[in-house]
Amino acid sequence: MIINCKELANKIKKRAVEEAGGKKLVLHAIIAGEDKASIVYAKSKIKTLRKLGFDGEIDKVNSEREMLKKIEELNGRDDVHGIMVEFPLPKRYDAIKVHSAISPIKDVDGMNPVNYGYLLLGHEILTPNTPRAVIRILESITDIEGKNVVIINRTPVVGKPLAMMLLNRHATPTVCHSKTKNLKEKTKSADIVVVAVGHANFLTADMVRDDTIVIDVGINVVDGKLQGDADFEAIEKKAKITPVPGGVGAVTTACMVENLVKAAKLQGVI
Ligand code: NAP
Repeated sequence: MIINCKELANKIKKRAVEEAGGKKLVLHAIIAGEDKASIVYAKSKIKTLRKLGFDGEIDKVNSEREMLKKIEELNGRDDVHGIMVEFPLPKRYDAIKVHSAISPIKDVDGMNPVNYGYLLLGHEILTPNTPRAVIRILESITDIEGKNVVIINRTPVVGKPLAMMLLNRHATPTVCHSKTKNLKEKTKSADIVVVAVGHANFLTADMVRDDTIVIDVGINVVDGKLQGDADFEAIEKKAKITPVPGGVGAVTTACMVENLVKAAKLQGVI
């Protein structure tokens, strides 16, 4: 009952490499200060890019002003094809200002309001990678049209864009959050449950039916090990579920590579 996400991730990366046609595309990841988790995530993305014949660099900045200046510089450079900002940003940074500063055609995170607005209008140009990874996983195992999908997350990075992507594919999304009442009733009636709460074992086996597809976006460290938001062992016995690690995260990284290639196409370099 475990959904094979690694194979899908490899397929997405292989297609992206083919589409790049040998062009060495370059991504820059900007990090505010010395946030250790951000540095680990950025390094791992760059490692993936290098394995595929692309390249990446990390730019560390110490203030919002420096970040905006760096973005302006990278926007103007022909040897930079994608720009990402590692989140979470320190509270004193204005995230919308930062996202808005990135050129919409180098916006590998799909968070510039122009790209976000296109998504809302039903045109998916450069879209956020995690919700797109969820869509890719679902498309690899089921027909999305007409499905009732419960998303437990309403953030701009996961729940909101995912709801738009599902509507674009004729599904019926229900977006739940910390103030949602009778959550179990909702998850029980769903064909698909996407959980992204950030609490290990949040989604228990009694919250889903036998024929439910569970997509676990959560990443938690429990006793030094990575774990999702679902009670994987119990749910895996009765329903289809993505693993953590090697699930949504692996496909998200592949989608990042896909977006770098899409961005390069928008810039007319491939
Ligand atoms: P977040 O900002 O903390 O948001 C958590 C969401 O869960 C919010 O919408 C929150 O509702 C909701 N929530 C919290 N407690 C709840 C409860 N008791 N019942 C129902 N809903 C509840 O986190 P995030 O940045 O969106 O990330 C969520 C998880 O996904 C984290 O574990 C993160 O590491 C993981 N993640 C994974 C990937 C990947 O590629 N695999 C990418 C991004 C995030 P409110 O809005 O009401 O607070």
